[in-house]
Amino acid sequence: MPLSILLNGYQGRMGQAIAAAAPGAGVVIARRLDAGDALNAPAFAGVKAAVDFSSHEATAPFVRLAAENKVPVVIGTTGHTAAERKEITAFAKKIPIVWAGNYSVGVTLLNFLAQRAATVLNSGYNVEIVEMHHRDKKDAPSGTAEKLIEIVREARKLAAGSVVHGRHGLVGARPVDQIGVHALRGGDVVGDHTVIFAGNGERLELTHKASSRAIFASGALLAAQWVVLQKPGLYGMDDVLGLKS
Ligand code: NAD
Repeated sequence: MPLSILLNGYQGRMGQAIAAAAPGAGVVIARRLDAGDALNAPAFAGVKAAVDFSSHEATAPFVRLAAENKVPVVIGTTGHTAAERKEITAFAKKIPIVWAGNYSVGVTLLNFLAQRAATVLNSGYNVEIVEMHHRDKKDAPSGTAEKLIEIVREARKLAAGSVVHGRHGLVGARPVDQIGVHALRGGDVVGDHTVIFAGNGERLELTHKASSRAIFASGALLAAQWVVLQKPGLYGMDDVLGLKS
């Protein structure tokens, strides 16, 4: 029997990609919401999971209602403030939530490889993260880049203040314990991410390029099929793919 879901942000680029991917993923979009629609308990009645690809301020109220109605959630939206992230995370005590800044299998592996590289290569290998997205993207850096920053910071035990977003003017020599982050915007780029480890005499670059939103849509629907079988808690795409060792 197909999995019946509620989709928040159905009119958006990702909402449409999810609608297109649903039949092939064994999913039926039973209810749809977008900006201006009433967000209330009846929207959650009878659905097995709720999927959010909307806007950062919409996620917490959506997840709160999902938790009240005991409906598991998949969050794809990015760009949340620290306060929003804290509020959303608290609902994971009541329902299972999969929350990933990027639902592609390739980026889930990129995260894994970046963690390994940041651990194996010493601080002499300077880390720079470069991402590029389409001209309409609202947040910067991307949720995927934020995750890569977090991974490198944890692996290298660096403070939040070590992250520099772009450079301009007389910035001086680059400190060893710095992570440079650069967000490029233009055209219809679906999503490119590169993590550079620049050492003396060699440079390692890990790059992922998304050319279709279908990869995020199919990953999010895979997560929806998975989340309905889980206990309350906060999960990532690495959990869905069984990558956690
Ligand atoms: P979009 O702007 O094309 O679509 C967003 C949709 O959400 C629009 O239809 C908009 O009307 C709707 N919306 C805005 N406020 C709302 C509200 N309060 N309630 C309900 N709906 C509301 O954007 P998009 O490219 O579809 O991306 C949506 C989100 O998903 C963004 O945060 C984006 O960064 C993120 N994203 C995540 C992944 C991933 O794999 N996690 C992949 C692509 C995009």
